Amino acid sequence: MALNPVLAGRKLRLLAFGLIILIWCAIGFDLWAISQDSDSASVDYLFLPLGNVAPSWSVQLLILGVVMTILVIEGCRFLLSMRERAGNLLKLHRSVIDHASEAMILTDAAQRILSVNVAFEQITGYAAHEVIGQTPTQLSAGHSGLNFHRNIWDFVAENGFWEGEVWDRRKDGGIYPKLMRISAIRDEAGHASHFVANFADVSDAKAQAERFDYLAHHDQLTNLPNRLALDAHLGNIFDSAMPGINRLALLIIDLDNFKTVNDSLGHHAGDRLLAEIARRLGGEMDRAKRLFRLGGDEFVVVLEQIESNDEVITLLDRLIRSTGPACDIDGHQLRCTLSIGVSVYPEDGQDGPTLIRNADAAMYAAKAAGRNNFQFFAEQMNAAANKRLHLESELWRALAENQLVLHYQPQIDLLSGKVVGVEALVRWCHPQRGMIAPGDFIPVAEESGLILPLGQWVLLAACRQVRDWLDAGIDMGEMAVNISAHQFRQPDFVQSVQQVLAETGIPAERLELEITESSVMHGVDSAIQTLAKLKAMGVRLAIDDFGTGYSSLAYLRRFPLDRLKIDRSFLADVEYDPDAASLVTSIVMLGRSLGLQLVAEGVENFAQAEFLRTLECERVQGFHFYQPASAADVVGLGRTLEYPVQPA
Ligand code: C2E
Ligand code: MG
Ligand code: MG
Repeated sequence: MALNPVLAGRKLRLLAFGLIILIWCAIGFDLWAISQDSDSASVDYLFLPLGNVAPSWSVQLLILGVVMTILVIEGCRFLLSMRERAGNLLKLHRSVIDHASEAMILTDAAQRILSVNVAFEQITGYAAHEVIGQTPTQLSAGHSGLNFHRNIWDFVAENGFWEGEVWDRRKDGGIYPKLMRISAIRDEAGHASHFVANFADVSDAKAQAERFDYLAHHDQLTNLPNRLALDAHLGNIFDSAMPGINRLALLIIDLDNFKTVNDSLGHHAGDRLLAEIARRLGGEMDRAKRLFRLGGDEFVVVLEQIESNDEVITLLDRLIRSTGPACDIDGHQLRCTLSIGVSVYPEDGQDGPTLIRNADAAMYAAKAAGRNNFQFFAEQMNAAANKRLHLESELWRALAENQLVLHYQPQIDLLSGKVVGVEALVRWCHPQRGMIAPGDFIPVAEESGLILPLGQWVLLAACRQVRDWLDAGIDMGEMAVNISAHQFRQPDFVQSVQQVLAETGIPAERLELEITESSVMHGVDSAIQTLAKLKAMGVRLAIDDFGTGYSSLAYLRRFPLDRLKIDRSFLADVEYDPDAASLVTSIVMLGRSLGLQLVAEGVENFAQAEFLRTLECERVQGFHFYQPASAADVVGLGRTLEYPVQPA
């Protein structure tokens, strides 16, 4: 063990003091003796041979002695404090090295370990005494092989420095990655006299980087690789692909009506449905078929090395079949159909973005063809996609330039034949393309957020129409206005209805809001609050397209509703299909048991009207009675029909 430098300093100082005092006593004694025998030249000096020194000199000598002594003492003190400071600095350096988080090894020129720090012991599991005298190569030889490590050290000996990542073995045999730097310390002649290696265990950082990489490239809900991973995958393929030799197909899969599930049953159910569909699609994949989630309800499959489109069609069939059976989500049996667009490399695109864009256009074509089908890309589909984009920008202009108009379709009472209300239906008078039906632009408005100003415009225009009719003494009954889910969920929706009523001054009972099932089934409590406020104002409330969404009976009971509008799809076959007839009968009974009035929409013929009359569902709306028409035309049609209305 080394001597404590502070203690050593003190001892040395004491010794020096003792010696000086001793010498000084001797000099003092001699001087005293001289002063006693100043005349005699033969005084026996006890200690120092000072000779015949005059007394005046003896005083000077005394002063000189004192000064010298002080100088010697101070010199000693200085030297000792320097030593102490150097000792302290050495201690500090050692402590810094031992507190460093990086492991350090000091070797001699032959790469034999001279010392290691605490971090080395912690990282490798070796105690210092176990490694001193060995070479780092002997310790590390486990994972990467002896030669690998030897080469590194030889490189340092030659070039003075090396840095890089190596895998090493701990004392317990565990393998770990370390980031290492080795430097040579050269003597004055330029030869490597020592080597210093420091390294850090980067297993945690590496694991974290891998985790980040995984998160960045995977979707958390389904654990599928995401869009970024798709781009990377396609990039890799195209770097090595040779047109004419490799063909590949890119499928974009979109779930039909997923939004309805999400809106009606909530995001939790939507997420579970997505995860289940992802699981089923994933079951059809292998090394040459990779599944990705693009986001939302969109998936992508990349099918490599195909020889003909038949292989793609076989896969498409399997995907459609695998997702066919109903998924049990929170007790709901949800059936999910797919719309799939396919693009093929190299004919439909030479790079990833083009293939994705074209498969997307094909997917939209599949949707337009009635959903639940697949389409291979064809050039004219791009024109349709461009049209959709164009439509959105045109719709903004339409709103600003008042190109939207309302048509009104009367609802009549079958018993009296009287018009008891009208439904406001928006149309777009396009300057070039003429009248455009809402089905062609409402979905675009919903996607782009335009539905909010559009819906507000419809509400105000419809109520102004009621005001005009009332002022003209015309009674068209209630004015039904369609409200989109997005509009209904706006925090200030109730307020905006109130403002419109105040501005137009019409009685609230004249206004009926048609809300879809999905608007109210998602976020039930806040929907109830909104409905209750509207109800308190006197506004009437109807559920539109009833039966097409996922309504919960328990919730329906809690909503302060006035009416259910039976969706027109249920009426289509009632006159000859007993199942369709019994379905409508059940809906009517259900509505009645909930204490609600019923309206049947889409009545197209006498038989349907008759059927509804026997069910005592008197309020009807449909082409059999009236087509939607402009405000002026609808008034001109007259407000009473002779009933029974015979088939044309
Ligand atoms: P909806 O609210 O269910 O409106 C009834 C639709 O059925 C109207 O189509 C109407 O013209 C049509 N219809 C009426 N009788 C018959 C019939 O006997 N047979 C058939 N096949 N159809 C009939 P339209 O006007 O094309 O509207 C379609 C949908 O567009 C509406 O369905 C509604 O969901 C939406 N919509 C229309 N106007 C607005 C609006 O101002 N705001 C919102 N948010 N949506 C609107
Ligand atoms: Mg409606
Ligand atoms: Mg409807």
